[in-house]
Amino acid sequence: MNAQEDICAEIDPARVFRNQLDLLTYQRDCSVVAPGAATLLVRPTSSAEISSVLRRAQASGTPVYARGAGTMYAGGVNPAAGGVVLDLSAMDRILEIDQARGVVVVEPGVRFGSLSQALKPLGLTVGIIPSTAPTATVGGAASAHALGTGSARHQSFADEVVGLQVVLPDGRVIETGSAAAHGKHFHRFGMGPDLTGLFLGGDGTLGVITAIALWLHPLPEFRTTACYGFPDAHKAAGFIAALQSRELTRNVWYASGYEAGTIKGRVLAARPGYAPDAWPGFCVGLDFGGEEPLVQHDLSLIANLGAAHGATPFPIFDEVYFRHLRNEEIYWYGYAGYFSRSRCAILMSSLATPDLPRFLDSVQALRENEPDFLWGGAVVICRRGLHGGVLAFYDEETQWPEAQAATARAAARLVEAGCTPYKTGKIWAGELQEFTAYHQTLAQLKHSLDPREILSPGNLGLSRSHQTARPERKA
Ligand SMILES: Cc1cc2nc3c(=O)[nH]c(=O)nc-3n(C[C@H](O)[C@H](O)[C@H](O)COP(=O)(O)OP(=O)(O)OC[C@H]3O[C@@H](n4cnc5c(N)ncnc54)[C@H](O)[C@@H]3O)c2cc1C
Repeated sequence: MNAQEDICAEIDPARVFRNQLDLLTYQRDCSVVAPGAATLLVRPTSSAEISSVLRRAQASGTPVYARGAGTMYAGGVNPAAGGVVLDLSAMDRILEIDQARGVVVVEPGVRFGSLSQALKPLGLTVGIIPSTAPTATVGGAASAHALGTGSARHQSFADEVVGLQVVLPDGRVIETGSAAAHGKHFHRFGMGPDLTGLFLGGDGTLGVITAIALWLHPLPEFRTTACYGFPDAHKAAGFIAALQSRELTRNVWYASGYEAGTIKGRVLAARPGYAPDAWPGFCVGLDFGGEEPLVQHDLSLIANLGAAHGATPFPIFDEVYFRHLRNEEIYWYGYAGYFSRSRCAILMSSLATPDLPRFLDSVQALRENEPDFLWGGAVVICRRGLHGGVLAFYDEETQWPEAQAATARAAARLVEAGCTPYKTGKIWAGELQEFTAYHQTLAQLKHSLDPREILSPGNLGLSRSHQTARPERKA
């Protein structure tokens, strides 16, 4: 039996695919990162099957890439070193909803859309939901640091994870958090250090996540949105910092900020004749959720805080864009459709709130220095700090190599502006290697857990055999 046959020896043959046509859509995710070519696709249904695949792959040194929905923009699922793609979409069961413990436990292939549907009748929700909810999987979100709805209240996906079940690269299965002792998820921390965190944001490099336990929260009974315009990013940063330090985001489920170019583009697309006395230099959109009197109370506190930082209500942005973005699923599909017409390279980074103006200066510099692409920038406002997305629209047929190089230069520029790589995959791998002590420690952990480097070679710049070159610095 050859190595490939051996790897899937314990898997139902109906869930093993070798035909290159079947493998075509598994070459890449939504990113600008080069596709890879696997030779085998396996769709497991249990951690025992994954354990068998990894044990056998470890013996032959065959690369294995875990894949959720492939909606990430960092190339994490791209099988750069060939080998096997583990498609986790068939592991899509909700294992347990325990309202007394306040925890839901799911398999990694569960999509946020189905999870939300199942929790809604119980008046419950999970803390963080990415905007790709209809397709994105919980396993992908855990492995790639999701954020989005809930970030203003809860921060990021990792903060909402109670514990995990993980298959290690040698096939051993472990539980983390309180479940490590008696199999029950109720506390993230307990015995010794936090092993859960080792796999969150791991991009599949240290283990394959086979179950995720998440905190449950009451579904907000009342929702409303509001937008505020600021003269510039400095004033907006002051406002956001005050909002965060006074914890006024406790009833805000989503909050984001937009720079001048995006504001004008969105408003004029909907209202071509709109001509205000002055356009805001920055706009903050807030999506509130909670008990109505509490939301109304916070709304008035926030309006006063905004006024103290030079803000004025900016209802037109709410009317033509923000409210639809938050309330209509179809809006997100339209957005995704735009991606397929051209393509969009996205780099996500995290930054401290006072660094907002520097982040926006970087976006502006990219606009000026890389005129072949349409650049945009937006921030997700978290309980603390910000996540800043830089977008570059390009034509995949004619501009791909240039878009890859420009994205690498954008990554270097963001790091120089004090931003931290977020959603790393392969897109940030070169930069991650620059953070020497951190990266060396991670590489030591990788080496001890996965000495033959079978899991996700190329991700996080961790494998010696698949190093990613550091991008040139000048944009
Ligand atoms: C238009 C658009 C909008 C987006 N908006 C958001 C947003 O609002 N918030 C946000 O956070 N993201 C957003 N994203 C990115 C993406 O949708 C999310 O990060 C999502 O959580 C990824 O889930 P996935 O199932 O597609 O993961 P995948 O792309 O399949 O995988 C992501 C990474 O996790 C690894 N992985 C997957 N499953 C496992 C597992 N079980 N065990 C170990 N490793 C695993 C993969 O190897 C890969 O490295 C957006 C993307 C697009 C295209």
